[in-house]
Amino acid sequence: MSGLTDITKRIDHAAREAGRDPASVRLIAVSKVQPLARIEAVLEEGHRLFGENRVQEAQSKWPGLRDRYDGVELHLIGPLQTNKVKPAMDFFDTIQSLDRTRLAVKIATEAQERGSCPDLYVQVNTGAEKQKAGIAPDEADAFIARCREELDLPVIGIMAIPPADEAPDTHFDLLARIAERNGIAEISMGMSADFETAIANGATSVRVGSALFGTRDPSAVTQG
Ligand SMILES: *Cc1c(COP(=O)(O)O)cnc(C)c1O
Repeated sequence: MSGLTDITKRIDHAAREAGRDPASVRLIAVSKVQPLARIEAVLEEGHRLFGENRVQEAQSKWPGLRDRYDGVELHLIGPLQTNKVKPAMDFFDTIQSLDRTRLAVKIATEAQERGSCPDLYVQVNTGAEKQKAGIAPDEADAFIARCREELDLPVIGIMAIPPADEAPDTHFDLLARIAERNGIAEISMGMSADFETAIANGATSVRVGSALFGTRDPSAVTQG
């Protein structure tokens, strides 16, 4: 057994506490750097929505798993280099880390060539942290408008990773407000330590890794 039942219960409870329908919150199982057996256990229990933060790691792990399990949906939740745009667009159903103009232009060019594009979330650096990816909060509205209107990109969501050393509430609230005023439906926020708080603040998906699978063990990365 994985922690799936427990996490699902906690999501349901947090949603009800917030007066929300539990079905309005999706669990993204963050399977980066997890042993294959743990991922298979969650797949066996019927879960199909997963998040990975590296294109290459996902490419080595998921083709085999997708052969064996129908209906897998994969989200890229880590930084995307422009030279990995093609494989990322081939591989992921949703890219949650759209965070700069150059990347948006590259994705738009590629989308025009292939006539399709994964769903996109704009990543916002709510804490304005120097080392962290994401568009600055005060540039988010203009960036979202540019992606949608000039580049015709399917921006349906917004994502953030709040600073590790601050209470997350104000960051979640800030992200939810940016989503609301831009008419963005999907809000990806909340990880193992704070997903219940994120749900109280309007998250429509939470990205849970270690609380679901157990502590990550980089030496145990395996291929599917
Ligand atoms: C690793 C990761 C998570 C999951 O983190 P946990 O604390 O293990 O739940 C969520 N979001 C992103 C962007 C990550 O890289």
